[in-house]
Amino acid sequence: MTFHGVRGSTACHGRDTARFGGNTSCVSVDAPAAPLVLFDLGTGSRYVPVEQGREILCLVSHLHWDHIQGLPFFPPMLDPDTRMTLCAPAPADGQTLSRAMSSIIREPVFPVGLDAFPACPELLGLGAETRDFGEVRVRSAEVAHVGRTLGYRIDVDGISIAYVSDHQEPMDGGEPDRATIDLCRDVDLLIHDSQFTAEQLVEHPDWGHCTPEFALEVARQAGAKRVVLFHHDPERTDDQLDELAACHADSTAPVVWVAREGMTIELAER
Ligand SMILES: [Zn+2]
Ligand SMILES: [Zn+2]
Repeated sequence: MTFHGVRGSTACHGRDTARFGGNTSCVSVDAPAAPLVLFDLGTGSRYVPVEQGREILCLVSHLHWDHIQGLPFFPPMLDPDTRMTLCAPAPADGQTLSRAMSSIIREPVFPVGLDAFPACPELLGLGAETRDFGEVRVRSAEVAHVGRTLGYRIDVDGISIAYVSDHQEPMDGGEPDRATIDLCRDVDLLIHDSQFTAEQLVEHPDWGHCTPEFALEVARQAGAKRVVLFHHDPERTDDQLDELAACHADSTAPVVWVAREGMTIELAER
C-alpha cells in the first residue's frame, strides 16, 4: 500500500510541507492477482504507477475536489485499453453517478468533457453495500461528513484495510457512529481523517473533520490493529506532523503512523 497524496481540502506546496507532501488524497493497494485499488483520486493520483493492462478499481469516498481533482490527470485516462471501475457514492438527488461526474469534468472548468477521454471508466454509484471485484471484497458504509460520503473496507489476500478519509467528530462529545465502527471492525489497518487540532475543530465545528484523538478512538473501538493518521490540514507543517508521530510512537494497540507521501506499507497475511 502506498500513499500518493495525504492532504485534505486543497493541495499545498512549500518548504514547511515538502517532507510529508502536498498532494490531496490518494492511496493505492497493490495485491497480486487482484485489481489495483485506489482510494480516492486527489492530486496524488497523478503519481500512481500503473502497469499497462492492469485492472484498476477506484473507490472514491465523495465528490469534493480534494478527492477527485486528479481524475483528468490520472495517466490511464489517456489509454483506450484501460480497464477501470470507478465507485463513488450514488448522488443523493437521484441522478446517476455518470451524470454527476460529467457535470464536474466539462467545459468551461476543464478543456474537454469526461466522454472525450480515451479511457471509459465504468462508473458505479454505491450506497452501504458489499460487492466483489475479482479478488477484492469491497464493503461501503455512509460516514458522517458534509454531503454524502462513503467509508470503504477492502478484504484481499487475507488482509483487511478500512479507509475513512473525512469524518465529522461529534461536537457534543458523543460516540462515533456505529456503522463506521462496524465497517472498521478488527481491520489490519485503518486510514483515518485527522485533519484538525482541537482548536481548529472548535473554530470549524461543522466542516466535517476530526482530531487525531478521535481517529484513535475510532480505531480503538473498532479493534483496528494499526491506524494511519491521514488527510492532514494544508496548514499542518512537517514539524507538527513529526510531533504528532512522536506523541504516538509508543502506541501498540493500535500502532499509529502518520501518512506521508511516498510512504509504503507492506502487509502480509499472518
Ligand atoms: Zn477531503
Ligand atoms: Zn470532503
